Amino acid sequence: MQKAYNTEVDVVIVGAGFAGLYLLYRLRQLGMSAQVLEMGDSVGGTWYWNRYPGARCDAESLAYSFSFSPELEQQWQWSERYATQPEILAYAEHVADHFDLRRDIAFGQKVTSALFDQGHNEWHVLTEQGMEVRARYCVMATGCLSVPQLPDIPGLSDFRGPTYQASLWPPEGVDFTGQRVGIIGTGSSGIQAIPRIAEQARHLTVFQRTPNFSVPAVNKPLDQNWVEQFKHHYREHRKFHKLGLSSGFGDLDIEPIERTPVAETAEGMSAEQVAQILDPYWERGGAFFLSAFADTMMNPATNALVAEYVRNKIRATVKDPAVAEKLCPSNHPIGTKRICVDTGYYETYNRDNVTLVDVADDPIEAITANGLRTGTEHYEFDVLVLATGFDAMTGALGRMDVRGEDGQSLKDKWAAGPRSYLGLSIAGFPNFFTVTGPGSPSVLSNMMVSIEQHVDWIVDCMQHMRNSGYQRVEAQPSAESQWVDHVNEVASATLFPQAGSWYMGANVEGKPRVFMPYAAGVGPYREVCDEVVADGYRGFDFM
Ligand code: NAP
Repeated sequence: MQKAYNTEVDVVIVGAGFAGLYLLYRLRQLGMSAQVLEMGDSVGGTWYWNRYPGARCDAESLAYSFSFSPELEQQWQWSERYATQPEILAYAEHVADHFDLRRDIAFGQKVTSALFDQGHNEWHVLTEQGMEVRARYCVMATGCLSVPQLPDIPGLSDFRGPTYQASLWPPEGVDFTGQRVGIIGTGSSGIQAIPRIAEQARHLTVFQRTPNFSVPAVNKPLDQNWVEQFKHHYREHRKFHKLGLSSGFGDLDIEPIERTPVAETAEGMSAEQVAQILDPYWERGGAFFLSAFADTMMNPATNALVAEYVRNKIRATVKDPAVAEKLCPSNHPIGTKRICVDTGYYETYNRDNVTLVDVADDPIEAITANGLRTGTEHYEFDVLVLATGFDAMTGALGRMDVRGEDGQSLKDKWAAGPRSYLGLSIAGFPNFFTVTGPGSPSVLSNMMVSIEQHVDWIVDCMQHMRNSGYQRVEAQPSAESQWVDHVNEVASATLFPQAGSWYMGANVEGKPRVFMPYAAGVGPYREVCDEVVADGYRGFDFM
C-alpha cells in the first residue's frame, strides 16, 4: 500500500535518481519540506532501469560517487574500477537508507503535469496514478537519458519471441542459453551488452547501422590498499574533478594530479608519433583517452589522426578484415558521438557464434514473426534485443504537460530546441529548476559532479530567497537568450555539431537539431554559475 504522502510542501522533486536523492538530503538540512515523485519502484534512476547484461559506468567508481559526505565516501567500498549496474544501484539504495530518504519519496508515480499557479506562486504537480502535490518550487531531477527511444521499424509487434529493451530490462534478468539472439543498436548500451550476450547465446546477430568508436575500459578489481591510499586524498581528488579540465572523468592515481593534455595538437605529427602519445592512454583504458591532445574536439586534423589510431586498433583486433572494416567508424569525428568504453567488444567479432550485419547499406525493412528482413535477406532469431537509445535531455520534460506563467507550455517554448538560463532555470517558468538540464555540461561530464553542483546552486538560491523574504524567482528572457547564444557559440567552435548524435537530437525523428549540452567543461561552467550569484544573481528576477 502506498504510504501517505505530503500534499503541500516547499519543494516537489520529480525523480529519485542521484539528483533527486541529493536534493532531498540538502533540503532536509535546510529544514525545508519536500516530496519526491518517482516512476520506478525504488531509487537509482538510470541505474534502476538499465539492467542489461554488461551495464556498467564509464566513469571510474571512485569519481562516480557522491562527494558531499566524507563519511559516506570513506565507508562505501567499490569493488571494481568501473562499477557494475547492480553495484551502483546498491549504492543508491544505501544512500537512500543511510540518510533515511525513502519516507519522502512516493514510488510508482509517473508525473503527467506540472502547472504554475501564479496567484499563489506555487506549482501543482499531478501523477498518472492520481497524486497531487502543491509546492512553492518544482525541481525536475528527471535525468538526461531516461526516456527510451524505440526504433521506428515496421512489424515490431509481429515478432513472436520475446523482445527486450536495454533500458527497460527485466530485474530478474534474461537467460540467453541456447537462444539465437538478434540485437539492434551499437551505441554504449549495445557495445556493453554484445560481449556478454555472445558468451551465453547459441548465436548472436548484431545489426549495425552506424559503427561507434570504443576504447577499452581496462576494468579490474580495485586493490583495497590502493583504495585506502586514494581515499586518504579524497578531498583533493574531488577538487580536480569539480574544477579541472577533465569534466569530472578521472584517470585516477593515488596522488591527485591535474592531468593536462600531453600535447596541444597532433596536427603535423606522423602516425607513429601519434601512437607514441596515445598508446599509454589506450593501455590505461577509459574515455580519458580523448584528452591526450588538447584540440581533439576542435581541430579536424588532430581528430582524424586520433580516429585513425582507433580504426587501426580495430583492424588489429578483429581477425576478419571485412568485418573489421565494417566496424570502423568513418561518418563522424571521434568523440562527437559519445565515445564508448568496452570490455572485449571488438574481440567478440572473432567468435564463431557472432555475425555482424551492416544495415547501413542494406537497411532493415521490417521485423517479422521470426526475425528481421533487410532489403536483401531474412535473418532468423528467437529473441530480439533493442539497444536503440533515448530521447535525450529533453525527453522526460517533453512528455509532461509543463505550464508556466500565463499557461505557457514548455513544449511550445522548446519547439525549436531547448532554451534555458545556465541549464538551471527557464524564463516564463518561475520557481522551476532543472538539474543537469540542456545548456549545462550535464551529459558531457561526470554526472555526479554536475548533479552536486546544480543541487547546491538550486538549494543556495532557495536559501537566499528565504533569507530575503522572496516568493518567486525567474530567469530574465534576455539572460536566457544570451546564454543560449553562448552555448551555441561554444558548440560551434567544436566538432560536435558535425555528428548526427543524440547530443544534437538527431536520433529522434522531428526533434530540432540543436547541440544541447554546454561544451566548455565543468570548471569554467561552475565559475560562471558562481559569478552569477556573486553578482547578485545576475539575470534573475526576484519578487
Ligand atoms: P545510442 O548511443 O543512441 O545508440 C543507439 C543505437 O541504436 C545506435 O547504434 C543507433 O544507430 C541504433 N539504432 C537506433 N534506431 C535504429 C534503427 N531504426 N535501425 C538500426 N539501428 C538503430 O544509445 P545507447 O547505446 O543506449 O547510449 C546512449 C547514451 O547513454 C550513451 O551515449 C551514454 O551517454 C549513455 N550510456 C552510458 C553507459 C555507460 O556509462 N557505460 C552505458 C550505456 C549508455 P545509429 O547510430 O545509426 O542511429
